[in-house]
Amino acid sequence: MRDRAILHSDANCFYASVEMALNPELRGKAIAVCGSIEDRHGIVLAKSEKAKRAGVKTGMVAWQACRLCPELIIVPPHYDYYVKYSRLIRGIYARYTDMIEPFGMDECWLDVTHSPMKPMEIAERIRREVKDELALTVSIGVSFNKVFAKLGSDMKKPDAITEITRENFKEKVWPLSCSELLYCGRATTKKLESIGVQTVGQLACLGADILKHKLGKNGVMLWKYANGLDTSRVAHESYSAPAKSVGHGITCTDDLRTVDEAEKVIFSLSQDIGYKLRSMGLRAKGVHLSVRDNTLQTVGWQVALATSTQDELRIATEACKILNANYHWQRNVRSLTVTAINLESAEEEIQLSFMGCPVDEKREVLNRTIDEIHELFGKSALVPARILDESKMPHGVCDELIMPGWMYN
Ligand SMILES: [Mg+2]
Repeated sequence: MRDRAILHSDANCFYASVEMALNPELRGKAIAVCGSIEDRHGIVLAKSEKAKRAGVKTGMVAWQACRLCPELIIVPPHYDYYVKYSRLIRGIYARYTDMIEPFGMDECWLDVTHSPMKPMEIAERIRREVKDELALTVSIGVSFNKVFAKLGSDMKKPDAITEITRENFKEKVWPLSCSELLYCGRATTKKLESIGVQTVGQLACLGADILKHKLGKNGVMLWKYANGLDTSRVAHESYSAPAKSVGHGITCTDDLRTVDEAEKVIFSLSQDIGYKLRSMGLRAKGVHLSVRDNTLQTVGWQVALATSTQDELRIATEACKILNANYHWQRNVRSLTVTAINLESAEEEIQLSFMGCPVDEKREVLNRTIDEIHELFGKSALVPARILDESKMPHGVCDELIMPGWMYN
């Protein structure tokens, strides 16, 4: 049987690169895409190659990033363009195969086994076409399974191709740390370290039964990955798993120490969730919050909502309530994830709550208006007053505004 030919293509510094493609003046500069909140207190969601070299990290507060890299240019995120560019890149992939499986917005697996062209030639064409047509760069891994293809796309970047074959995988993959493997998270990495396993090669040479005993099914799966035995398929482009939840999380470079700091992060994460729900035509019937403390323990809780919503302020408020009811601050917080859960189509009739209070129609009109303003003038044109620096907020201004809870920037 012919070996499979799988590509994994990863757009380099995707958000920042799209910003540069949209605005050529930003090219080659140090830029950071910051959470759609007031500049200095925004959180870095993505950075360009140059900003990365200056030490700017995702999850950093904007003013810290600026201190590390004084020439840093901060831009607000433009999600609608990221979605558009993500589709355009996929359009290029579709010239070579219809087996295209996205992994997040900026990564895809392609199965090119049945193409008359050689896999390395396809990878080279894709790399060039993405660069020439979209002014973006990708790094591509070429291999005989999905796991190694993904590893390959991480090995050389930006704008590069790495081939991992049956002949060279022991030399290329085995020296890597286990944590580089797909689905080998921090907890699993720790467990592996506790039995003296640090590299993929050490993992591969262990008996599968030892791993089964130590890590269960997950251990056997990782052992197969390490030995090049991953047989999972690349999905067909027409297959899209229905969204079960829409979440957004971030790991902060500095611990969050107070309720106020955590709430600011929750409000900025929720803003994108509301936008995504509305653009996908979905409503949430519940909210989930997960909190990881600075010892990397993660805890999570969820609440059901009496009426479904796509309103970010309501999602944020519920997430803050969850935090205050359940988290007791024995330790400071390293990362937070807000997720809208139990999604339903926005067309479904909105259930009235058992209290009989109807959904606030005014908020729906308001949110649509806010989306329009964001599309016209950018995300920083209008931000929730809650996440602005309070010292800059004129007293009582929230009650005076036509749109309560929002402030013009
Ligand atoms: Mg990427």
